Amino acid sequence: MEVKSYQDLNVTPRILLGPGPSMVSPRVLNAMSSPTIGHLDPEFLTLMKEVQDLLRFVFQTENELTVPISGTGSAGMEAALSNFIEPGDNVLVAVLGYFGERLYEMAGRYTDNVDRIERPWGEVFDPDEIKTALGQKKYKVLALVHAETSTGVLQKGIAEIAEAAHQQGTLLVMDTVTSLGGMPVEIDNWDVDVAFSATQKSMSGPPGLAPLTVSPRAREVLRNRTTPVGNWYFDLSLLEKYWGDERTYHHTAPINMNYGLRESLRLVAEEGLEERFARHRANAEMLWAGLEDLDLSLMVPEEYRLTTLTTPIVPPGVDALEVRQQLLNNYNLEIAGGFGPLVGKIWRIGLMGYSSRRENVLLLLAALREIFANR
Ligand SMILES: *Cc1c(COP(=O)(O)O)cnc(C)c1O
Repeated sequence: MEVKSYQDLNVTPRILLGPGPSMVSPRVLNAMSSPTIGHLDPEFLTLMKEVQDLLRFVFQTENELTVPISGTGSAGMEAALSNFIEPGDNVLVAVLGYFGERLYEMAGRYTDNVDRIERPWGEVFDPDEIKTALGQKKYKVLALVHAETSTGVLQKGIAEIAEAAHQQGTLLVMDTVTSLGGMPVEIDNWDVDVAFSATQKSMSGPPGLAPLTVSPRAREVLRNRTTPVGNWYFDLSLLEKYWGDERTYHHTAPINMNYGLRESLRLVAEEGLEERFARHRANAEMLWAGLEDLDLSLMVPEEYRLTTLTTPIVPPGVDALEVRQQLLNNYNLEIAGGFGPLVGKIWRIGLMGYSSRRENVLLLLAALREIFANR
């Protein structure tokens, strides 16, 4: 059999202003091209400790069980749900959009008893609504999304929600995929039991790892399981032996991805969390003002708007997809459209990590101005 001779890879460096992946610092890409070594090499074991230490810093936690799960954000979600749900357990999912739907669907693979409460896409919960729902039944797990990437909303009141969950003996599982590294996420202060994220959003690495942190309370729940975890790959009772002191082989850690994550995390630490959040806010505010100058209104009210993802409403008569295509083809800029009930109705503009830069905002606004002027 013959195979065509393909050309050298020649990828156009895009300006990524979508909901992820975000742009990756050259420092991270350089780190990733370091030599691959064994997953039990003493040097790699040292690197694992450093990655865990840095992850605890971005999650603002002392949780010992803080690891990068091998896989994208959805792998983190799968780990966060599967380890704490046994068949027959009651689970409550608070759904605000597409990723809340995914939590609901995924939880249903591990138990038949998943209840949901929901708000229309673009809105958030009053913590009291969640508290009331928690009181209806004895739930093992409450799962929700902190920063909903399908709509651009931030669920507030996490500490209050966590407290209410704990009063009922319920664990809080939280998706911080779009918030971690771009907006405050305070796992210990808020007393969140399980949180997961992804490397390619506000942490600004390539996709491929999913940071996960687990509280001592949740570890106790894991230890008290009476059935094995419903999947083998994400079974934390096995994984914690590789990432803990025993260093027992479970699966081969994606070595070079971990080099990249270490560098992404080092960049976060160098910048400082407060400074990083302030940068995301300043650039988002510049974007919001610029979009409003272009007569675009923003779907989400400022009080619960993400600084990492902005969702302007597509004006009547404008083809959302065509504008995105023009941005990509003529300006080398990627933004995203809406999905589900918001297809064609909003754009999703991410300013995450390395993408959150003043010059990117200025370029996008200039491009949009030109596209609208030429219509
Ligand atoms: C992107 C995203 C995910 C899924 O992550 P993948 O890396 O695409 O698997 C989950 N939750 C939220 C909020 C996201 O934005």
